[in-house]
Amino acid sequence: MLPRLELFPNVIEMNFQARKRLGCSVYLVFDGADWLLIDIGFENSVQEIIEIIRQMDFSLAHCRYLIATHADVDHIQGLRRVKELLPSAETVGHPESQRLLKEGDRIWTYAEISAQGISIDLPVIELDRTINDGDRLQLGSKELEVWHTPGHTEGMLSFRLGNLLFCADNIYRDGGVGNIDAHHGSDIPAFIESLTRIRDSDVEWLLPSHGPPFRKDNALLEAAIARLDGYQHLSDFGTCAVDWPLLDEWEDELTRGVLPK
Ligand SMILES: [Zn+2]
Repeated sequence: MLPRLELFPNVIEMNFQARKRLGCSVYLVFDGADWLLIDIGFENSVQEIIEIIRQMDFSLAHCRYLIATHADVDHIQGLRRVKELLPSAETVGHPESQRLLKEGDRIWTYAEISAQGISIDLPVIELDRTINDGDRLQLGSKELEVWHTPGHTEGMLSFRLGNLLFCADNIYRDGGVGNIDAHHGSDIPAFIESLTRIRDSDVEWLLPSHGPPFRKDNALLEAAIARLDGYQHLSDFGTCAVDWPLLDEWEDELTRGVLPK
């Protein structure tokens, strides 16, 4: 038997439980005998994660949900495998994640990043059910509230449990955000809206999909929002920018024949 190392009441994180990095954060939420997993990570860590869960004395038959925060391969590659081990659990995610996982889209899921020589397996899977903003996932006497928080990618979901927000790849403890990449469906205006929603909420703790959980800090969120706001009008993330004011200035200066100064 392994003691359950709860980060917050009823919340276990499998990297913390294992006292080592397994991959992305894998949150186990439980109430009574029922439990769920938020993301599962890569396929090669599934067996170890399930073994730890078993040793913490959770019944595998009582897993209610296997949640995909989004369809990125480092979050969901093990989903098909873990579903085989936990057949009573319902796999759930956003409709856009459903589409990517069903079609086995290798670009939007980052299974294939040819510039970096990354080409890894993406097991195709059809989610049992799609969920979206405002839905609630019942777990014993508890309820997880579903937030649609697009930006990093269209299908990104966050989950609220009381004063906790499982915020996926929206923001990390160092103030970074999930990467911005047009080929991944990133959308900077949507990202700003999602971060603003998180900032304006009364949640107290953020539990991200990479790195440690941390107390919600509005200054940190505002700095990220300001940075992304700048990116909307700069070439840095040009394929995701909404405009480039410099070119308008240049055009004006060209017509007026303005010399360098
Ligand atoms: Zn991620």
